[in-house]
Amino acid sequence: MSALLNVQGVKSGYGVVEVLRGIDLHVMPGELVALLGSNGAGKTTLNLTLSGLVATRAGQVQFDGHDITGLHSRQVVVRGLIQVPEGRKVFPNLSVHENLELGAFTRGRERRVQNLEKVYDTFPRLKERVSQLAGTLSGGEQQMLAIGRGLMAEPRLLILDEPSLGLSPLLVEELFGLISQLRSTGLSILLVEQNVGQSLDIADRAYVMENGQIRFSGTPGELLASDTLRQAYLGM
Ligand code: ATP
Repeated sequence: MSALLNVQGVKSGYGVVEVLRGIDLHVMPGELVALLGSNGAGKTTLNLTLSGLVATRAGQVQFDGHDITGLHSRQVVVRGLIQVPEGRKVFPNLSVHENLELGAFTRGRERRVQNLEKVYDTFPRLKERVSQLAGTLSGGEQQMLAIGRGLMAEPRLLILDEPSLGLSPLLVEELFGLISQLRSTGLSILLVEQNVGQSLDIADRAYVMENGQIRFSGTPGELLASDTLRQAYLGM
């Protein structure tokens, strides 16, 4: 089986600042891969680069066997590489329903209706709040809405950028349960997180990023078995 996402030697940055210094990673179809790393490691920059929002300066990004390096972000979305950005970024003055509809702007009307049903099945709490303004939802509900909006775009790979940020431990547990549930439907997921323990509980494989480079890649078991990695990244 070949990788759904294959990133080889990718470099990128802002102006004279080089942030990504040669990233290699891949996600196989149906895998849930955790990308871990502390503040400023370059995780968000990698996401923006994969989506065509920050230019790739070197290396190659392949998605589903096609070279997508340098494609416009809209083209990347149409192919099914969908991001749920850090900080949720829902439209506060639009309703739950309207926010979800916006996620489907690249898809036809009939599919939109089907996708909406799927999202409401996955997140019944959103269904109870269809006409509520997104800005009045709780943090956890806004995160579910942001993920729901991503699902409306029919992802083949869903990239979640720090979905647990700012949520209570109980909500994080619920959210990670939902992410696990999405994976069990066959969806491939790249979970970008600082919440190491809970990410490793649900991930098939993990990468640890530091200073714009991948320092470790392997299974959660391998990461947990290494004293050095545990001390450096898990604080244990
Ligand atoms: P966080 O968890 O805090 O979001 P991160 O791992 O996602 O961290 P990035 O946001 O990718 O890290 O930031 C990596 C580096 O790039 C940081 O040193 C940051 O200051 C720098 N950086 C990010 N955005 C810009 C920008 N627009 N212009 C210049 N430098 C930037």
